[in-house]
Amino acid sequence: MHRSKNTTNRVLASGLSSIIPISAGCHEVLPGVHLVNLPLPFTLGSINVYLVRLADGYLVIDCGMDTEACFQALGRAVETIGAGWRGVREIFLTHVHPDHMGLAPRLLDLTGARLSMHAQDAAYLGVLTQTKRYLNWANGVMREAGVPEEIIAGIATSSNEIHKHFHSLKPDRTLLGGETIAASVGELEVLWTPGHSPGHLCLYGRQRRVLFSGDQMLEQISPNIGWHPDHDPLGEFLDSLRKLERLEIDLILPSHGTPFSGHREWIRKTIAHHDGRCARILALLAGASRSAAELVNELWERSLTPFHYRFAVFEVLAHLEHLERQGKVACIPKDPIVRWRVT
Ligand SMILES: [Zn+2]
Ligand SMILES: [Zn+2]
Repeated sequence: MHRSKNTTNRVLASGLSSIIPISAGCHEVLPGVHLVNLPLPFTLGSINVYLVRLADGYLVIDCGMDTEACFQALGRAVETIGAGWRGVREIFLTHVHPDHMGLAPRLLDLTGARLSMHAQDAAYLGVLTQTKRYLNWANGVMREAGVPEEIIAGIATSSNEIHKHFHSLKPDRTLLGGETIAASVGELEVLWTPGHSPGHLCLYGRQRRVLFSGDQMLEQISPNIGWHPDHDPLGEFLDSLRKLERLEIDLILPSHGTPFSGHREWIRKTIAHHDGRCARILALLAGASRSAAELVNELWERSLTPFHYRFAVFEVLAHLEHLERQGKVACIPKDPIVRWRVT
């Protein structure tokens, strides 16, 4: 049941439209499901937060960043739908990136809502909020990856800026996947989809064949998969996509960009993208052993901002970890720079 995303406004089995154009503001995308598009101060441009009607009040899926622009736009949306802040009963975080969780402390104060998130992202947030320790660790990883000191210094400036937007949170309900939330649109199933973050969650409405995909599936963007110690984030991401592939989904409601359909085609293309990236890395290492930073310079033709350079290094490390677990590459630990070779 492959569907092309070019099938503009095609009416699907569930009676949904495949493409819903999104502009700033609040849009009712399904009865009782409002997409609120909030502005972001970086290249992603905006984030979609969802207000979902429950039997009693509303569920908010993600919060937006802790900027006044996000706060005001979300405040207008809760007024428009007639909920008000006190009508928000539950805050559900797909994951703990700052554009998704930044406003959570302020919203929890205003609403008195209960906070739900995955156990692994709750733990990960605990690590991220120890800013100095975390950034020292990340700098060490980049040094070993062969990133020059002047670039590490440049990255530190942008990382310090971003890390101001992580806040400590204590969930009222720690999720593992498999739980359900009763919404007016039907029961929503919590799906654990690790990879983009260790505790990333999607919500699946089986009845309406709708998926709140967080950053797991974005129409035009391949989600960033960064390395985490003791994890194979790329393997976890690919496994979670294979699970989503089996579901019947007519409408994907992503955290960034336009709602879309055609999840199987998207998954096929995304798996092919990562297969291609792994093959490229193997081909480069077949010529000579290289550091992760040298691979970044080969793989990205455009010059990267410090912010994106850090993502690129951690993304290459995630691919190397995946290939190492498959026995295809091995690292040559050497102080200070780790190099990689094919086996
Ligand atoms: Zn994210
Ligand atoms: Zn995001």
